[in-house]
Amino acid sequence: PVEAADLAPVRVAEPELTVLGVPGQINLDYAATAPCLKAAADAVTALLPWYGSVHRGAGALSQRCTLEYERARQTVGDFVGGRADDHVIFTRNTTDALNLLAHALPTGTTVITYAGEHHANLLPWPNAVRLPVPGSPEAAVRYLAAALAEVRRGNAEGQILVAVTGASNVTGELWPVAQLALIAHRFGARIVLDAAQLAPHVPVDVSTLDVDYVALSGHKLYAPFGAGVLVGRGDWLDAAAPYLAGGGATSGVGDATHDVRWTTGPARHEAGTPNLLGAVALAAVCTTLEAADRYALHAEEQRLLAKLREGLAALPDVAELRTFGADAARIGVVSFAVRGRDSAEIAQRLGREHQIGVRDGLFCAHPLARRLLGEASVRAGWDGVPATALRASIGIGTTDADVDAFLGALRTIV
Ligand code: PMP
Repeated sequence: PVEAADLAPVRVAEPELTVLGVPGQINLDYAATAPCLKAAADAVTALLPWYGSVHRGAGALSQRCTLEYERARQTVGDFVGGRADDHVIFTRNTTDALNLLAHALPTGTTVITYAGEHHANLLPWPNAVRLPVPGSPEAAVRYLAAALAEVRRGNAEGQILVAVTGASNVTGELWPVAQLALIAHRFGARIVLDAAQLAPHVPVDVSTLDVDYVALSGHKLYAPFGAGVLVGRGDWLDAAAPYLAGGGATSGVGDATHDVRWTTGPARHEAGTPNLLGAVALAAVCTTLEAADRYALHAEEQRLLAKLREGLAALPDVAELRTFGADAARIGVVSFAVRGRDSAEIAQRLGREHQIGVRDGLFCAHPLARRLLGEASVRAGWDGVPATALRASIGIGTTDADVDAFLGALRTIV
């Protein structure tokens, strides 16, 4: 077992971009959970002596905690380019944020999404129009335009929400979010961006992309577990029943069961004592990333990604999973299968024998992963289709040595 005292910063990309890690352990599973940025840990440590009630006390500790929480809200909202009247609601993670929005949809809203989404952006919309996995970004736009025209033919006035990811957690490929937003708005629809994978790699700005809502997770963004956010238009959220009923979400409660006045704004959906440390740590990461040269970080990640993919392509019997084609723009994520081999066994051996952490399975995107495994097998001319895949993913702190160690270990194993 690893003791907290053993956790030391081991890698420095730039001084302020130190991520925490365990010496000897190579983490190539950033897409599941990225390592914690030291700035997040420092922000939490600084606040620990100040434990006080958020929004509920008059003492200095309480006032400081309330201030820090609201400041964090502002910082995180600014980080994603939130508009002045957007609500910034702290949630547990992206899954929670998307479920909150699903809960707040006006009655009769038609949701349109793609079959290639992560389960977090598929399952909250059980009655959605599910578009097929497109073979290119252009096809994604075409499919959406056709579906919107069809839905509008049947329902000229109703609300429509398009739910789409910014970057796939299976392939890392970037989706044409701005074009999809343009089409959605042309048909009077709204659009929510699942930025769980995108935000850690690419600056996300809801105003520039012109998306109505964005959801993300702190733990994929170099911040601790348990804090995420939904940012977006306030009107549906203020009109919806509270996501959580309880203290902080009301401005008054009478004696009769239904005598409750619910507040509006973020507090309406944040009942109970909030995750202050999570919010503050997430804000610290946002501030650090804002100050960093994200173009340089992106360029370095792309260099390592190219090396990773070239290394995989050079191995016999390895096939990459992809939707949009080999040259499509993507973040530092690559999924692949090995002919005739069990992905779980390979992942376990990478962990046990080489101290390298990768993900195996269908990546909480079962329809997409199964389909891409089939296509990859056909492309590679294999007889059968592997049941599951492997995924390597990188980010701040990943080094050439990590990629070399992974490729070397994989070569040994396969
Ligand atoms: N969307 C995407 C694209 C993801 O990759 C993930 C996490 N794998 C999620 C949503 C859900 O994130 P969380 O588990 O933090 O709720």
